[in-house]
Amino acid sequence: MKLEQFLKNNADWVKNYLDNEASYFENLSKGQTPEALYIGCSDSRVSPELFMGAAPGDIFVHRNIANVIGTDDTSVQSVIEYAVGHLKVNHIIVCGHYGCGGIQAALSGNDFGKLNPWLSHLKAVHNKHKQEIDGIENPHDQLKRFVELNVLEQVNNALENKLIKTAVDQKELKIHPWVFDLTSGKIVVL
Ligand SMILES: [Zn+2]
Repeated sequence: MKLEQFLKNNADWVKNYLDNEASYFENLSKGQTPEALYIGCSDSRVSPELFMGAAPGDIFVHRNIANVIGTDDTSVQSVIEYAVGHLKVNHIIVCGHYGCGGIQAALSGNDFGKLNPWLSHLKAVHNKHKQEIDGIENPHDQLKRFVELNVLEQVNNALENKLIKTAVDQKELKIHPWVFDLTSGKIVVL
């Protein structure tokens, strides 16, 4: 889709919402109480609002390459702080996707220049699960398993955040490890 189309689509989108509810945007602008924090990959094909059927205001979103929750990443940690500490979301969804380019890059061992520091987060996951991942013969299955293990490891990273850990322990927050399957469009719950 070309860029000009995005603006045209926006005008149509606004009209649709207003036709349905004249005060829609006025109400939307009053505040947010999202049900969940979604942390996923930046991949252009993995659009959480679309595949979850979520409306504006439903999910607080953070996306980066291969859905990493770096314990020292001020961006994701700030998003968590705001979503959990202030917005009091009930759920955190950590969502990877099969066919993830970030995971593929980390597995390849190639030099990706300025991407290397980011890929080191994923290489750490690989190293931790080297025996299992490297033991899978089919490269397709190997990649799929790496994607799943990465999601589970990022959930572990999330639990290192004290705010999250406390909210989970007090049963005020649940964490959900998901993988989006590009080939079927379906969510796989791990
Ligand atoms: Zn990806």
